[in-house]
Amino acid sequence: MIGLGFDVHRLAEGESLVLGGVPIPSEIGTVAHSDGDVVLHALVDALLGALALGDIGEHFPDTDPTWKGASSSVFVEHAIAMLHDRGYAPVNIDATLVLQAPKILPYKEQMRQTMAALCQLPVERVSVKATTSEHLGYAGRKEGVHAWVVCEVQPK
Ligand code: MG
Repeated sequence: MIGLGFDVHRLAEGESLVLGGVPIPSEIGTVAHSDGDVVLHALVDALLGALALGDIGEHFPDTDPTWKGASSSVFVEHAIAMLHDRGYAPVNIDATLVLQAPKILPYKEQMRQTMAALCQLPVERVSVKATTSEHLGYAGRKEGVHAWVVCEVQPK
């Protein structure tokens, strides 16, 4: 089964930036109820989507104070547990991150390792790619960041 996830968050000065579970030094960060990690949010939706289990907003509503400032790794662990409960597990993950700045090349390997650990996968099965949007649109104006994640899920 294939799952697809997408997420976007606004960027603002003075906020922290966490992507793929990795804190990244930056003057601008995501505005969010949780830690605003678009990569992990898109990953959760991809995992849930593979088994038609709804979306991240249904399971972790941003109106619930439980999730204020929450590490998004909690959401991923919950989604993985839901898959395991049904006898499934992800076999690979492919993520694409779109942001103008900062450059995330120095952090990509750590993101892969963090996501692999959360999903109980070898790092060789986790891909993280990044691109700018050539200064076009909200990502190009550094007003927002978005991520796409696709995953394959198979019976354990
Ligand atoms: Mg989100």
